[in-house]
Amino acid sequence: MEPMYKSTRSEKGAVTASQAILKGLAEDGGLFVPTSIPKLDRSLEEISKMDYQETAYQVMKLFLADFTEEELRGCIARAYDDKFDTREIAPLTEKDGVYYLELFHGATIAFKDMALSILPHLLTTSARKNQVENEIVILTATSGDTGKAAMAGFADVEGTRIIVFYPKNGVSAIQERQMVTQKGKNTFVVGITGNFDDAQSGVKAMFNNRELAKRMEAKGYQFSSANSINIGRLVPQVVYYVYAYTRLLAQGAVQKGEPVNFVVPTGNFGNILAAFYAKNMGLPVGKLICASNENKVLFDFFETGVYDKNREFILTTSPSMDILISSNLERLIYRIAGENAVETGKFMEALAREGKYTITHGMKEQMQDFIGGWASEEKTAQEIKRVYEAAGYVMDTHTGVASAVYHDYREKTGDTTKTVIASTASPYKFATSVMGAIDDKYKAMDDFALIDELCRVSGTAIPKAVAELRTAPVLHDTVCETEDMQKTVEKILAL
Ligand SMILES: *Cc1c(COP(=O)(O)O)cnc(C)c1O
Repeated sequence: MEPMYKSTRSEKGAVTASQAILKGLAEDGGLFVPTSIPKLDRSLEEISKMDYQETAYQVMKLFLADFTEEELRGCIARAYDDKFDTREIAPLTEKDGVYYLELFHGATIAFKDMALSILPHLLTTSARKNQVENEIVILTATSGDTGKAAMAGFADVEGTRIIVFYPKNGVSAIQERQMVTQKGKNTFVVGITGNFDDAQSGVKAMFNNRELAKRMEAKGYQFSSANSINIGRLVPQVVYYVYAYTRLLAQGAVQKGEPVNFVVPTGNFGNILAAFYAKNMGLPVGKLICASNENKVLFDFFETGVYDKNREFILTTSPSMDILISSNLERLIYRIAGENAVETGKFMEALAREGKYTITHGMKEQMQDFIGGWASEEKTAQEIKRVYEAAGYVMDTHTGVASAVYHDYREKTGDTTKTVIASTASPYKFATSVMGAIDDKYKAMDDFALIDELCRVSGTAIPKAVAELRTAPVLHDTVCETEDMQKTVEKILAL
């Protein structure tokens, strides 16, 4: 049965994959979910002989049923090419008894590249398939990594324009420099005075603003989303879980059918949801370990069944996980509510109104695949130092959270299942925090000063994305108040 896509908040008509990609968010404010999760139709042994691109085709064709083979293969070929600095695209490396799946070898050295290098192609193909003539305006809120990866993906892609909002005081120096130096005449970057949740709420409000949509339409524009709520982001992320597992199979590290745990440093719940989808496709997955930083709203949710965002927002050294509203969780809620859109809608209304909701006991029972964990700033820094000293491997702060959570889990449970940690960013992107964890003497130095030192201690080459930043001119300097996000968009589009 080929999946169509329906909203988590209404029982109304399903749309095709290409329509869901174009719309981003459903009209009722819900998220698109597949009507059923397809099963892999090739054996894992067969897939273990395929390269990343072929694996991507085998996985994505099952979700994107209305794409022709030629269309999908074209998108994959344009996305996973020499923008990545390794032929494997997502190499798996064993260090200190655990596997790190390095998802940071793309253009902006964070895992967002895995999906955002293909989304523009999926989107322009979808527009063509649906006879869309409007220019597509990508509106995105970013906690640091999405924005740059989205702009890199969409820069100068014909028929598109991209506007990115980021929290002015909530991203790393490297992240900010990456964004404000973005080239491409269709790219716009705006810092806001609020935090990431404010940026995301502002973007969601614009998406849901009918009056704004009408004025856009009149000028030949329509919005679409590059945020991780777009199924065009989610589906490409399923690929690397299948790829990681089949690499282990090819190496003989796991036997046929042997389960593997995945640990995912989580913010918006997109990456780990993709792992859950992979499991539902038939991948032998044991536990899905959801790792949070001190903004541990998800950990508390898995413990208690209460999702409560009413708490202090903490700025940490893993800023891409500084999130209190994990948008993609709605897709899991829908699933464990028995695919009941009315119930899901009620939870989301409660979240919007009171900032919290409580799931039923029956729903909580269905989340047994997931284990929540969190790591403090101190634990994370200790873990980065520990692994560096034990294995000479330098990881970034987000991966550090996941690694710390994993070792804690393993100690507590004695679970020795082979485990893959999603390694979501290059340490070069967070050099001050990473080097400061390794040695106090680096603490006062800035990201740029530490790059050569990081190169020396890690024995890895400085990524091109970082080397270029040292001399790249600043091309964007717009800053606005959170309340003025829509005004800023109107100005950019001359509405
Ligand atoms: C976005 C991001 C995350 C969180 O991923 P989600 O899909 O939002 O859960 C973790 N680490 C890094 C480096 C990221 O950029």
